[in-house]
Amino acid sequence: MPHEAAELEALLMERSLTDEELLRATDAAPEYRILPDATVIKIGGQSVIDRGRAAVYPLVDEIVAARQDHQLLIGTGAGTRARHLYSIAADLGLPTGVLTEIGSAVAGQNASMLGHLLAKHGISAVEGAGLSAVPLYLSEVRAVVFGGMPPYQMWMRVPAEGLIPPYRTDAGCYLLAETFGCKAMIYVKDEDGLYTANPKTHPDATFIPRITVGEMQAMDLHDAVLEFPVLDLLKAARHVRSVQVINGLKPGNLTRALAGEHVGTIISAD
Ligand code: ADP
Ligand code: MG
Repeated sequence: MPHEAAELEALLMERSLTDEELLRATDAAPEYRILPDATVIKIGGQSVIDRGRAAVYPLVDEIVAARQDHQLLIGTGAGTRARHLYSIAADLGLPTGVLTEIGSAVAGQNASMLGHLLAKHGISAVEGAGLSAVPLYLSEVRAVVFGGMPPYQMWMRVPAEGLIPPYRTDAGCYLLAETFGCKAMIYVKDEDGLYTANPKTHPDATFIPRITVGEMQAMDLHDAVLEFPVLDLLKAARHVRSVQVINGLKPGNLTRALAGEHVGTIISAD
């Protein structure tokens, strides 16, 4: 056993798992990227899929063309149906864990629909995007579809306020990208990116092409284009230190973003 590994083992046997020296030692080995050539794209629920054919078909075409050059992990949002369920379940006095399960089911329905649209191209929707057969799909057909909710289900962390699950599909897709050490994380939504306020209710809001997590948190937005917990996840990231939010209603944006172009808002940890 190499010296460093022996030292780590000794620390792990002797110390508390929150010991600082122990924590530093667990970090000593170089990071390993599991799927470094894959890009995670999240197709918005409310912002894209709920708009139906007009929004979804052109993206399907872009996805089919893009997988010639890119390995794609395609996560889906939940959207309006999940919001409806949250309102009913909350009114019934049900807890966050139950809201999470029903929200996950909706993201799964969207994955199923997208999977069926992509089926003739050999691209399938999978139940869990955890490793399983995903690497095989990526190497054989270069793309796979999954429901974007993180699988916390009943064990979802309770939010500080209210009942809505704090880690939803933006977070679920991001966590997958970070854990697999993917190349990039792209959010496909219905606005050009982040604005100083919600452009749907503030037509005078200005577009922000690039921003850091710190700057975005300091803006203290009450509404945003991304789930707020993603910002904290980004700050702690080892691999995916920035994400891009793009307007998927504009043809070509997804293709350009996959090629590394800056077409929306880039949110970065540094
Ligand atoms: P998804 O469909 O991926 O769940 P959301 O609907 O949750 O996406 O988030 C995208 C929406 O966020 C946009 O349609 C926009 O109306 C809203 N939004 C709120 N605040 C902002 C902001 N400051 N900048 C851009 N979009 C914002
Ligand atoms: Mg959302």
